[in-house]
Amino acid sequence: MVMAVGHHRKSSITEKLFGGSYFGGSSNHVVGHRKCSVEFEDDDFEELDDALELTQIGAERTKNVLILMSDTGGGHRASAEAIRAAFQLEFGDEYRIFVKDVWKEYTGWPLNDMERSYKFMVKHVQLWKVAFHSTSPKWIHSLYLAAIAAYYAKEVEAGLMEYKPDIIISVHPLMQHIPLWVLKWQGLQKKVIFVTVITDLNTCHPTWFHPGVNRCYCPSQEVAKRALVDGLEESQVRVYGLPIRPSFARAVLSKDKLREELEMDPDLPAVLLMGGGEGMGPVKKTAKALGNSLFDEAQGKPIGQLIIICGRNKNLVCTLQSEEWKIPVKVRGFETQMEKWMGACDCLITKAGPGTIAEALIRGLPIILNDYIPGQEKGNVPYVVDNGAGIFTRSPKETARIVAEWFSTKTDELKRMSENSLKLAQPEAVFDIVKDIHELALQRGPLANVPYILTSSFTSLI
Ligand code: UDP
Repeated sequence: MVMAVGHHRKSSITEKLFGGSYFGGSSNHVVGHRKCSVEFEDDDFEELDDALELTQIGAERTKNVLILMSDTGGGHRASAEAIRAAFQLEFGDEYRIFVKDVWKEYTGWPLNDMERSYKFMVKHVQLWKVAFHSTSPKWIHSLYLAAIAAYYAKEVEAGLMEYKPDIIISVHPLMQHIPLWVLKWQGLQKKVIFVTVITDLNTCHPTWFHPGVNRCYCPSQEVAKRALVDGLEESQVRVYGLPIRPSFARAVLSKDKLREELEMDPDLPAVLLMGGGEGMGPVKKTAKALGNSLFDEAQGKPIGQLIIICGRNKNLVCTLQSEEWKIPVKVRGFETQMEKWMGACDCLITKAGPGTIAEALIRGLPIILNDYIPGQEKGNVPYVVDNGAGIFTRSPKETARIVAEWFSTKTDELKRMSENSLKLAQPEAVFDIVKDIHELALQRGPLANVPYILTSSFTSLI
């Protein structure tokens, strides 16, 4: 996508009419995927300019918040939606929130293809491991991102212009560098608030850390330490926890009522089996092993029930739905009300996804971790196990045996782990994050009308 560079003394009528405090004055306005470049002479707008200036003096307008994310896994979107919901609950109409994958909407390969590439790489984990570790040194990823920035800066700029953000929140490790460069080149670094919300619990890729951000919200002390080592100042770092959808923190859920609503057995203990947003990990083998271990052959009856949430993995749904089970089993695809399913169950089996773990902790679920994505999820295993909130095993049979024991002879262990889970939970994190961002916005004072000049050549600036 190439944007025409207009003369900066000409202004688009759309920019004039719809404020554009930071991006106003451009000769191009982007609507959806199409661009309008209707140009008018400045004289035509002298009156309009005066009127707009008067409206802006002393009048606080709704602030635009752009959350940058990508559906690489389910965790980034879940965090973005959590932040959106918390802003709405805390501040109502004061903020207008856009959750967007600007890369996908505006740029080209490889940025617009991240979902597919990520899915492919995490399926072939060795490939992902190499990619993760080989891009960790700063000089390598900085060089790579600078090259991509040079190529796609105008497209990213167009994406930002559409939403005219007063605040940009990145919840993705690859969405710091390029937007921050664009803001710098526009001279807008001091006007637009840019914060990063890290969505990995422990081990995370260094691209998350950029010294140019106003805040870097770290979910744990471990991540905060890494941020400081990577050059961030203490004043930039806050540790509140991973942002989880307010429905987890705020809803009062009774297990009995939930089981009735979800048409589950009211009495049998329940295990929830899942594999992140994409339904990854040894879900099928584990389900089959549980189908056997949770059936008491001697008494000829089940000792537990199984809920399997396959996320976006449609093949897994089909395969598991066609199985015959001796115990009550529910096989579901992508669920939007995870807090209900977690609230109705007694323990969880999952790969070490940070979002799923943090949600389960809030619900007080003991967790069996049966897999992890190398790199960013590796550190989540000791986080859960060392804190007594769960167990790690890759063996489906071992997993099934542990759950059967939890539901029969070792109920005290299940209870103890549940208490440890609750101790680790940070349900208020998302509210602390949005309140802190609000404080930053207040410190900036009334919004200024910054003249926007379309950069003529980004490549020359690198
Ligand atoms: N999730 C969901 N519905 C589903 C499956 C998963 O909302 O059917 C959510 C889950 O609750 C969690 C996120 O997707 O918030 C998964 O994030 P996680 O960090 O655990 O793993 P990822 O999918 O990013 O690898």
